[in-house]
Amino acid sequence: MERCSRCVTPASYPGTRLNSDGVCNQCLDYEAKYAHWDETRAERAEKFRTILDQARRRSSYYHALVPLSGGKDSAYVLYLATKVYNLRVLCYTIDNGFHSPIAKENIAAALAATGADHFVFRPHHGSLMKLYRHFLEHTGMFCPVCMRGITAGSFFVSHKFNIPLILTGSSEKTEERLVPDIFQDGDLSFFKKVLKEHPFPDDIQAFLFDRTFYERVQRALFLLTGGRISQGRMDIYMPDYHDWNYAEIYSTISSKLGWRSLPDRDEHVDCLVEPIVHYFIREMRVPELTPSTLRYSAEIRAGQRTREEALGVVENEDRERTVPKETRIFLERMGMTEEELRKLMTDGRRHMQYQTGGFVRRAVAFLRSRRTS
Ligand SMILES: [Zn+2]
Repeated sequence: MERCSRCVTPASYPGTRLNSDGVCNQCLDYEAKYAHWDETRAERAEKFRTILDQARRRSSYYHALVPLSGGKDSAYVLYLATKVYNLRVLCYTIDNGFHSPIAKENIAAALAATGADHFVFRPHHGSLMKLYRHFLEHTGMFCPVCMRGITAGSFFVSHKFNIPLILTGSSEKTEERLVPDIFQDGDLSFFKKVLKEHPFPDDIQAFLFDRTFYERVQRALFLLTGGRISQGRMDIYMPDYHDWNYAEIYSTISSKLGWRSLPDRDEHVDCLVEPIVHYFIREMRVPELTPSTLRYSAEIRAGQRTREEALGVVENEDRERTVPKETRIFLERMGMTEEELRKLMTDGRRHMQYQTGGFVRRAVAFLRSRRTS
């Protein structure tokens, strides 16, 4: 199999081009974008302090909202927000119906250790399962439902409580680079487009909450001015301003927040059914992609893992191709057989017809990339 000579991404991954040295475009992008990361560390820290100062002045009670999933990134964000920056934090969690027991324990431990308050949105279980099934049937994907719930809920809660900042651990720098061909997030226009063509009978208005027009303008101003104008409600990606070193993150959150991982995985421990997504991406979309491929590629780029070590794991995963044990729980709750699920996920590109291509999305991605360089 042909792979990038620097990371472990296979040449067959959609959108991948290898240059004459065999280096993929994602590695080259990364190199260009983060070339000055070390020299700009102090400047970024200063920018972040300014954002916090403004937020403190504008808040009515809570300084920041932290969407908390029970996974490592959100736990670390909560740690930084409360223990390092002494912010008054409200956490937000959507109970997506597939929260793992360990995620619940991690959330409880993190809240106990930090003293943060917690807001939980638990959509009606029956409707939620029906909504997952609806999206599976019409797009071949179920993740957009939960992802939409996280985003909409964060906007809703920050709006209602007048919280100036939403702090997240999303990071283009250290996370898997997922292309629209294989993964769809909770983008509102995608979500609405699916529902327009395939109306859903139950009331799911809570999933459609969005920023107001005014808030969108403020966010555009924030991005355009490189963070100098930060009025209104801002969602801030903490890894844009901080080093995001996983060895350090694991050690911090386990010693300070009592965070624990699963015996067989430390990534996405918050979601019980995440392995199913990886399994089907491999089965139906990109056979050369194992569960760890993209994450390890990101970690190699960020200097947090060697290629040799990653290659060993990825090649080992490549030999194992068993249906994940979590599939049983998923099928039970969805009231579906494995054959039905397989059939719904067969055409791996069905979701693409609802993607908008989005000028606004591309513009925001461009502005974000400028800001972090
Ligand atoms: Zn690469």
